[in-house]
Amino acid sequence: MTTLNSINTDVLIIGAGPTGLTLANLLGQAGVDTLIIDRKPGTVTEPRAVSIDDESLRTMQAIGLHQAVLRDVVPGYGVHYFTRPGGRCFGKVEPTGKLYGFPKRNAFRQPLLEGTLKAGLERFASLTARFNHVLLEFSQDHQGVRALIRDAEGQILEVNAAYLVACDGGRSTVRKQLGIEMVGSSFSSRWLVVDTDRDDDPFWQTRVYCDARRPVVEVPGPHHTRRFEFLLKPDETDEQVLSETRLRELLRPFRGNAPVSIVRKTVYTFHARVAERWRVDRVFLAGDAAHLTPPYAGQGMNSGVRDAHNLGWKLIGVLKGKMAESALRSYESERRDHAWALIKLALNLGMVMAPATVLRARLISTAFALVGLLPPLRDYFLQMRFKPKPRFTKGLVLTEGEAGKLSCGQMFPQPMLTDSHGHEHLLDEAIGAGFALIQYGDPTRQRLDELQHGLWSHLDAKRILILPEHVKSMPSIPGCTVLQDRAGLLKGMLGDSSKFLLLRPDRYVAAIFDKAGETSAAESLQALLGIVSARNHATEHHASLSLTP
Ligand SMILES: Cc1cc2nc3c(=O)[nH]c(=O)nc-3n(C[C@H](O)[C@H](O)[C@H](O)COP(=O)(O)OP(=O)(O)OC[C@H]3O[C@@H](n4cnc5c(N)ncnc54)[C@H](O)[C@@H]3O)c2cc1C
Repeated sequence: MTTLNSINTDVLIIGAGPTGLTLANLLGQAGVDTLIIDRKPGTVTEPRAVSIDDESLRTMQAIGLHQAVLRDVVPGYGVHYFTRPGGRCFGKVEPTGKLYGFPKRNAFRQPLLEGTLKAGLERFASLTARFNHVLLEFSQDHQGVRALIRDAEGQILEVNAAYLVACDGGRSTVRKQLGIEMVGSSFSSRWLVVDTDRDDDPFWQTRVYCDARRPVVEVPGPHHTRRFEFLLKPDETDEQVLSETRLRELLRPFRGNAPVSIVRKTVYTFHARVAERWRVDRVFLAGDAAHLTPPYAGQGMNSGVRDAHNLGWKLIGVLKGKMAESALRSYESERRDHAWALIKLALNLGMVMAPATVLRARLISTAFALVGLLPPLRDYFLQMRFKPKPRFTKGLVLTEGEAGKLSCGQMFPQPMLTDSHGHEHLLDEAIGAGFALIQYGDPTRQRLDELQHGLWSHLDAKRILILPEHVKSMPSIPGCTVLQDRAGLLKGMLGDSSKFLLLRPDRYVAAIFDKAGETSAAESLQALLGIVSARNHATEHHASLSLTP
């Protein structure tokens, strides 16, 4: 084995699936030196994720790719539950509203998304992407990580990086080399997954056939595509179910004898597990390398995109000298519980979608029928309120602070806002990629431009005043962007306290405070971010901040 080349980089990402590609776009956008590698010649070609949520689309927006991604997305679809093919519809999930700026449930195709994310990397000079490259092994010490990578010609590349992020999927080489176990549930189920195109069925909801004899999921997609997923019986082999004849038989209850154009087919075994550790010193696990989710809630990839956004801004902060390395500890503590909550949701949905017996299937459909009679319960399901909302109670957020119904640690909503020229913008367009200080309400009660602590300029926090819908004129405030929430999305949520909120780059609320609490909030945040000292702008124009080593 000959080592031909050696590369130094800040971050080495192993795996160019949705998690790695999202992280690479975030780091590239911030100008961080990054190398992303994948053993495959290109992005995925197998049938994989078909449902992308509002939080992931918000992350696509943060990397400037939402318009491109949305070209291959059919926004806003629900789920109809049937007793069997041709049977009775006994339950519906049809979420409306765009709390985070996008519909909650959207149809897409993973190969198309990955193609867009890969093309997005070409925008960044600090980023190198290499396919046909396999990670063989790595070692680390207190200064960095050394990885050995084999290229398509069999030559060995040595990469020295400050951090390695393993986005290398469920069979993660990195996780195995670190000796990290996957823990959780013993759940495992085999599904045949078939993608078709040229589909002219106009029905625009997911259909789930909760038939104990053969649970089937049918998911419409963009560009006249459709996904069929069949739960397999233990005695059915991959070869049997992937044969042309058997595929036609399985599709017949849904498509009759009409020709079906099959574009991809495969058999998957799904698990419900989470890695017992997500970090060992300079090496992080993200995406399927850290958690394996059954597909019932359509959340495996979405959880990986959340990991990428959470870890991405923290790595950028540390590598740019804005935060101490200790801030990286929060990655696992913030992400692990939420990822597990979504795995549990998927397991619960699985009991509905794939009931173990005919009797259980009947009990479930009867229970749903009763739920439909009670409006609050019906809305709970219809609006997908059962999906665990992201909310941090530990990590890089203050534990105290509320504005109306919103608390620290929650994701901030994304309303469509109007500027002084009457143009509309989603909130995050005004924020950009970094931190933001937001005030919603009456600017005469306390002024956003009077916040003086050095931390705000150290973090390059944009200042955004959002006026409620009833305000007639839009004031001009030095150093602040002024916008108006004419649709009133924030009104019921934030009340009229006019408090200040610090939003992190991943749009979570890190702090909520008023003018009198500014110093205390800033000092608590500094401690969390590992910043030793910050002087006040009132006494010193250039804030001086030093970081722990
Ligand atoms: C049938 C099906 C349906 C699904 N539906 C949904 C859904 O609707 N919504 C949803 O959110 N999720 C869904 N998922 C889950 C989703 O596809 C995965 O969670 C997602 O692909 C994980 O992304 P990742 O980037 O973490 O890992 P992966 O996509 O697995 O990517 C890992 C990459 O690492 C590379 N790699 C591995 N080892 C090495 C090495 N040593 N060197 C170099 N490269 C390496 C691999 O080649 C691969 O490209 C579904 C999955 C399946 C199978």
